[in-house]
Amino acid sequence: NRCILLRSRPDGMPSGENFELVEEGVPEPGEGELVVQTIYLSVDPYMRGRMTGVRTYISPFETGKVLTGGVVGKVVESRNPDFKEGEIVTGNLSWADYSLSDGKHLRKLDPESAPISTSLGIVGMPGLTAYFGLLDIGKPKPGETVVISGAAGAVGTVAGQIAKLYGCKVVGIAGSKEKTSYLKKELGFDAVINYQREEISKAVKLHAAEGVDIYFDNVGGPISDSVMRRINYKARIILCGQISQYNLKEPEKGPRVQGQLIQRSALMQGFIVSDYADRQEEGIKQLGQWVRDGKLKYRENMVEGLENAPQAFIGLFNGENLGKQLVKVSEE
Ligand code: NDP
Repeated sequence: NRCILLRSRPDGMPSGENFELVEEGVPEPGEGELVVQTIYLSVDPYMRGRMTGVRTYISPFETGKVLTGGVVGKVVESRNPDFKEGEIVTGNLSWADYSLSDGKHLRKLDPESAPISTSLGIVGMPGLTAYFGLLDIGKPKPGETVVISGAAGAVGTVAGQIAKLYGCKVVGIAGSKEKTSYLKKELGFDAVINYQREEISKAVKLHAAEGVDIYFDNVGGPISDSVMRRINYKARIILCGQISQYNLKEPEKGPRVQGQLIQRSALMQGFIVSDYADRQEEGIKQLGQWVRDGKLKYRENMVEGLENAPQAFIGLFNGENLGKQLVKVSEE
């Protein structure tokens, strides 16, 4: 059973040195336990925060211990009456070929209703983040202008498409030509900005000339400073993520936005998807329906092999993924 440990805490940008692949025995289930073989593993930006050793809304990873994250896998051995061998489940499990679970917090998947990998992306945590953040905090109305940073990622692609379904004008910000053309041509965004190429302030002014009613922020930093300068009266700013800040050794000093919020009577609210745990079912049902109806499209960026999970994780901070970044560990 190959497992990936956190060898050391990253100082700045994470590197391969921070991780270690080790061999351990396949776990033996005790009474009430089951063993899950990993098929897909999710790499997510929030994991960077858990590597710092500081407790936030979630406890830190411990060095020398196996990492955990979103997994889809198959039950290969069960001594838990609620799970049978061969069933497909998802939950927070080990970065390993096999995980031991007591079955609590595992969700069974129906492979007939949707590709099982989508439960880690569009019909899973990232999709729910987009759904609740945009609809509950953003409250989009037809004709409003929605700007989304990190627009070509797992959360951003869903947030932008839902905003389109609600009749908004959607402007996406992403870091490559491939990403901006995907957003425009395949997902129907109204305008896109390549922040690596374009002067961001000018581009926001040009593409959101009427001002910004909703800003769905996945990245923070200078991109957000530029968007904040263009917010409209009663704008809603959804603080979902700040990925541009996660690897900084010193906090960045930026323009302060409180003045803008006052002048525009705007709302800025942070949230964690787990705030909506009691509405998870509703979100999964709606997202799944939209996907089946062809109203939401998705892309997965699949890396092969458990041993490549650390590089796939690091790739999130280099913009290597278009859509949801996954690692395929074994065949379905
Ligand atoms: P993504 O799929 O969007 O992957 C990360 C992307 O971020 C990269 O592809 C890259 O795209 C972009 N990026 C990386 N570094 C920078 C940078 N310095 N400046 C600007 N963009 C950068 O990840 P997710 O969709 O899973 O997550 C998106 C955001 O949402 C993250 O900030 C994450 O922490 C947050 N999040 C919050 C949740 C919550 O409950 N509040 C839940 C889930 C996610 P590009 O090429 O465009 O730069």
